[in-house]
Amino acid sequence: MIEEKAIEEKAMAPARESPARVLVVEDEPDIAALVAYQLAREAMRVETVTDGRAALAAADRESPDLIVLDLMLPGLSGYDVLAELRRRPETRGIPVIVLTAKREEEDRVRGLELGADDYVTKPFSPRELLLRVRAVLRRVRQPAVEAGARILRAGSLIVDVDAHAVTANGESVDLTPTEYRLLVMLLERRGRAQSRKQLLAGAWDMDSEVADRLKTRTVDMHVRRLRAKLGPEGDAIETVRGFGYRFRAPEAQE
Ligand code: CA
Repeated sequence: MIEEKAIEEKAMAPARESPARVLVVEDEPDIAALVAYQLAREAMRVETVTDGRAALAAADRESPDLIVLDLMLPGLSGYDVLAELRRRPETRGIPVIVLTAKREEEDRVRGLELGADDYVTKPFSPRELLLRVRAVLRRVRQPAVEAGARILRAGSLIVDVDAHAVTANGESVDLTPTEYRLLVMLLERRGRAQSRKQLLAGAWDMDSEVADRLKTRTVDMHVRRLRAKLGPEGDAIETVRGFGYRFRAPEAQE
């Protein structure tokens, strides 16, 4: 009972007034300093560590709002850190943006598969990183689901989850049950890339073993139809090459 209460209070704690706390894990001092400077300018509270062990300790101790994690670290790699963060119940929910040094798709996909929320490829502009950080924080701090009403919104797109009703640009949109589940899944995890396999398992309501056997092409086909039915709002469903799909993170003024 006491535990439950604590969890509830933590979940309901007002986050918007307090500065976002970001943990930056990067062993290259120049890059770490640049990232820290950019984020601090945005009134974020930044802590910098230079290796994986320190990162895990700081994540446990500080429970930051976001972790920016370089994948190329000495000793414990960024992949190991990410896997460990996702394994521990205390740190599982902390959003992570990975910095990948290589342009290789493989690194990016592996990071996302391990549960990263987004990635930035080096070399990156400070502005690019800042946009990603803002997007992830916005999503975490302002959940898409409005309290009580179960309404999901994105631009002119409105999904009334209880009524199973979808409107875009004021017009009602007629979706198949699968298209509807796909849309809700993508919207609920807005700004976060979903693999084809995850979408198959979720939207087709089957366990992942069966989903494995279903061709992931099926997902592509349904997403294509869903995009077409949503009209201009359908553009918000972005393709994450070699991985899956993502519903674009909200803009600041939305
Ligand atoms: Ca590095």
